[in-house]
Amino acid sequence: MFDIKEIRSQFPILNQQVNGKPLIYLDNAASSQKPISVLETWQKYYEEINANVHRGIHTLSQLATEEMENSRKKVQHFINAKHDYEVIFTRGTTEGINLIAYSLGNSNFIKKDDEIIISYLEHHSNIVPWQMLCERTGAKLKVIPIDENGILQLDFLDQNLSEKTKIVSVNQVSNALGIINPIEEIIAKVRTQSSALMVIDGAQSVPHFEIDVQKIDCDFFVFSGHKMYAPMGVGILYGKEEILEKMQPFHGGGEMIATCSFEKTTYAGLPFKLEAGTPNVGGNIALGAAVDFMKKVGIQNIRNHENALLEYAQKKLLEIDGLKIYGEKAKRAGVVSFNLEGVGIASDVGMILDKLGIAVRTGHHCTQPIMDFFNVAGTVRASFAVFNTLEEIDALAEGVKKAQRMLM
Ligand code: PLP
Repeated sequence: MFDIKEIRSQFPILNQQVNGKPLIYLDNAASSQKPISVLETWQKYYEEINANVHRGIHTLSQLATEEMENSRKKVQHFINAKHDYEVIFTRGTTEGINLIAYSLGNSNFIKKDDEIIISYLEHHSNIVPWQMLCERTGAKLKVIPIDENGILQLDFLDQNLSEKTKIVSVNQVSNALGIINPIEEIIAKVRTQSSALMVIDGAQSVPHFEIDVQKIDCDFFVFSGHKMYAPMGVGILYGKEEILEKMQPFHGGGEMIATCSFEKTTYAGLPFKLEAGTPNVGGNIALGAAVDFMKKVGIQNIRNHENALLEYAQKKLLEIDGLKIYGEKAKRAGVVSFNLEGVGIASDVGMILDKLGIAVRTGHHCTQPIMDFFNVAGTVRASFAVFNTLEEIDALAEGVKKAQRMLM
């Protein structure tokens, strides 16, 4: 049974007032709140274990290693990776994509005039690392266009995929608009029309969907812990074993070596080759607790609840005269992104909502090309998590109406 009251009781942060009003947290696409089980796991690590991993013979170090490796296995099963060593701990999605871009660059995988394809709907962290790789190598960046609904125009792939295409990197769900991209169709096209590697940015899909990387058949899948109820500063890069094996390390340092001398260093096997330095042990362990939390609630329950919130939010907001939802006609998950006609600055709306205790995101959401496409400086974005309620959507709609009255 899905019991929203019981779920909310697991999020202590929701019991507070902001600006004299009960907090309504609708900024989950930026970072979700954390349930008690995650907070306690993190605290317990520092109170009872706190030792470095993989290096110590002493009991606490072994315990820390065991807990962290156990968490890696939880993530492995959560995304259905074939092996636990295909799951690399990172600081988040941004680091995951940079790791792939640098490592493939260092492995001579990309050469002058090769091509990398991304989409118009990407977060800056799935644009800039590829631009930088192109600058280093002379490769070209190509971009799948969108239509007026924000839907990717996939015939672009038919016209542009070729043996020159080395990487295709797209998100599964757009953070700015919430649009669900047809990654299965994209991957099918990429597989039949090129031998490119397929990277999926799952930052906005992992919090809402069941993920099966083997079924999707992507080469890489990256995401952040903090958007899926885990602490900040932890994330995952999944990669297929045979590809990770061929990749050069991203960072050099401790943990990632097999042998090291001044003459020559040899590298450790997976996953350690790609995990130089002391990891965020407590955070990585707490990521496992976030996986447990999501599984216990049930991913399908989370999805159903958030779909109901999205549908209701769309209905309530569209009742407001002059309110435009971007990507309204597209299939979406967890996000409504909108502006009020005649109100030039989205942050004005955000500030009024904040005074009412309602936390939303305003601005370009690290997706300036999308904002340019729609010819706006930014939007107001409300994004949902499992603990949000229909009553909170009512309050949002009332808050937006108030903002409209005040700003027009
Ligand atoms: N990709 C998408 C789709 C995102 O929504 C975000 C964050 O908002 C990122 C990448 C970057 O994630 P992080 O800042 O956790 O590295």
